[in-house]
Amino acid sequence: MPQKDKIKKIIKWIIAVSIYYSGALSLYRRFFKKWFVPNNIIILRYHRVLNNEKKDAINISVHMRSLEKQLLYMKRFFNIMSIPRIVEGLSRNHIFSKPTVGITFDDGYKDNYICAFPLLKKYNAPATIFLTVGHIDNNIPFPWDAPETANSDAEDIAILSWDDIYKMNDDLISFGSHTISHPKLSSTSAEKVYDELVGSRRVLSGAVTNYVDLFSYPFGDFNEQTKDCVKRAGYKAAFTTRDGFCKRVNDLFLIKRKAIHENLVKNPFGRFSKSLFALEIEGLMDLLLPSRSYL
Ligand SMILES: [Zn+2]
Repeated sequence: MPQKDKIKKIIKWIIAVSIYYSGALSLYRRFFKKWFVPNNIIILRYHRVLNNEKKDAINISVHMRSLEKQLLYMKRFFNIMSIPRIVEGLSRNHIFSKPTVGITFDDGYKDNYICAFPLLKKYNAPATIFLTVGHIDNNIPFPWDAPETANSDAEDIAILSWDDIYKMNDDLISFGSHTISHPKLSSTSAEKVYDELVGSRRVLSGAVTNYVDLFSYPFGDFNEQTKDCVKRAGYKAAFTTRDGFCKRVNDLFLIKRKAIHENLVKNPFGRFSKSLFALEIEGLMDLLLPSRSYL
């Protein structure tokens, strides 16, 4: 990391620690958020969860020990609600007056079963995994995981098998669609987009009992036609990669999420920072450093 970025990261961490341990965060949570943020809801977007010693080159993972600490924080200060219940609430314009958090995973990596599922079980934390149906059980890695791009260890980039999915198919974990082949939908023909949406929905709804009619845009990429296609294909809501809080949702097919990855929540010494995580999911970092880069 360049020297300038290291200094920025240290400053950001010092700000977070000062706010957290001075009690300012607690005041913000108890008063400001209560009065000025009536719809207190955030949906988190994860991809991968790795064993503590593993690294990923493209920065889409959190470590198990980091996720465990995040879950502990969520348990203490938030109501962890399942994504289908959140969507149902949003569709009725329900105001979430208690701090509420939802958990999603995109793509469907095998580590969701190996590393995340035991922790979600342990803390009784519901989550929705958006599966890329065409990659299940066929050993074809995602293009960004090709050996020259990222990890060359095949085990590292493995994708969920149907067997893994069946083992997680319970009340805690639900499954939505992330298409069949993870294309950039805005530059795909309307016919193929429809096939990706309807085909993945058909396969998933036939395969798992805890399938939910929810969709996550691959690469966060869509245009108006894509959005219309998602609606026509029968989905109830769709999630973007636009970073932010739900607050008021005018369009259930443009639900924002907050991306969480290890770099965002680790201190300059490479360890999980509760202060950084807290400021991110409480929304205070967005107020203080809205144009921060994800150092
Ligand atoms: Zn994806």
